Amino acid sequence: MKILVINCGSSSLKYQLIDMQNESVLAKGLCERIGIEGSKLTHKPTGKDEYVVTTDMPNHEVAVKLVLDALLDKTHGVIENVDEITAVGHRVLHAGAKYSASIVVNDDVKAVIKECFDLGPLHNPANLTGIEACEAAMPGKKQVAVFDTAFHQTMPEKAFMYAIPYEYYEKYNIRKYGFHGTSHAFVSNEAISFGKLDPNNSKVIVCHLGNGGSLSAVVNGKCVDTSMGLTPLEGLIMGTRSGDIDPAVVQFIANKENKSVDEVLNILNKKSGILGMSGVSSDFRDVGKAAAEGNHKAEVALEAFKYRVIKYIGSYVAAMNGVDAIVFTAGVGENDKNMRAEICESLSYLGIKIDAEANSHRGEEVVISTPDSKVKVMVIPTNEELRIARETLALVK
Ligand code: ADP
Repeated sequence: MKILVINCGSSSLKYQLIDMQNESVLAKGLCERIGIEGSKLTHKPTGKDEYVVTTDMPNHEVAVKLVLDALLDKTHGVIENVDEITAVGHRVLHAGAKYSASIVVNDDVKAVIKECFDLGPLHNPANLTGIEACEAAMPGKKQVAVFDTAFHQTMPEKAFMYAIPYEYYEKYNIRKYGFHGTSHAFVSNEAISFGKLDPNNSKVIVCHLGNGGSLSAVVNGKCVDTSMGLTPLEGLIMGTRSGDIDPAVVQFIANKENKSVDEVLNILNKKSGILGMSGVSSDFRDVGKAAAEGNHKAEVALEAFKYRVIKYIGSYVAAMNGVDAIVFTAGVGENDKNMRAEICESLSYLGIKIDAEANSHRGEEVVISTPDSKVKVMVIPTNEELRIARETLALVK
């Protein structure tokens, strides 16, 4: 049983072929600059050398064919026949409120993905293109859509409704949806098994801190709140996104700078966050280095980032009336032990104690709190591709 996992962007396609017998990655790779001059495929078969193909990729269908050629290649390949691929799992950004679980793709599913184009204008069209390219390249093979929004569909109305006139929810489905759902689902699930929590009596906060960041509050394995909203702009301070902000700021900047709402939103999405605050970089490592060298703006950017995470954790403890485990994941959450330690220092009111030695481990699931800590704190490397592959297999088996 081998599952091909596909994550399509507008000009890119990431893939992994996973052997579900032992959940090992057979090969992974990336097609870049699809539809743009200078496209290339980088294919990395596990245990073999990287293989780069520089050739024209006018569209995603050609890219999928090149991926299959690479997987089947005599020297660099990992399978002998396309039939060895049981099914294809696709990461799809937005399903609105239509799907709360993954689903085998048919015409209705494709119609829903299309209906949600305005909710995910950058991702949903690319995700659908990826599905159609795979259907064309592998006729008859089952395709499964795994949605970023699905895990958060269990949020209650009081958590997902915005306090704006109800007609906008009725007319346009404006509400909080939440994102990174595949990661929050994978990590909260692992937290319950690895952390030996009671699946039917557990309160977990997942801190997905990467270039994009979001928190979720998970009771008994089900999401009850999350920090991203209608779009991924809400919530934490991120690499380039502002996160929570007074909406009046949009009007203020638009008037002062003679910009449209679209232009200001672009600034809040792409030029804000720690990049905008520090003026240094969207990469936490660069900003950390600048802060260590005494750059005040960089210091404030990281302090503000941390402060926002700490406040969200506090609000989710309140929302759940307690917490059993807090879990860190994604680029910053998995790699930055100082950030984890500093966040946890501010949570000493919860009886949290961190084991410095355990906190220095990297690249593995680890409990970083001491045995007498009142809340278990863990680092769990996220694995969205594996979650997509597991969901896909479960639906096609
Ligand atoms: P995304 O998937 O949202 O693009 P990732 O989860 O890969 O992001 O996280 C990328 C971020 O993680 C980058 O900003 C990077 O600086 C940060 N990061 C990676 N390693 C470290 C580290 N050792 N210390 C601090 N930040 C790190």
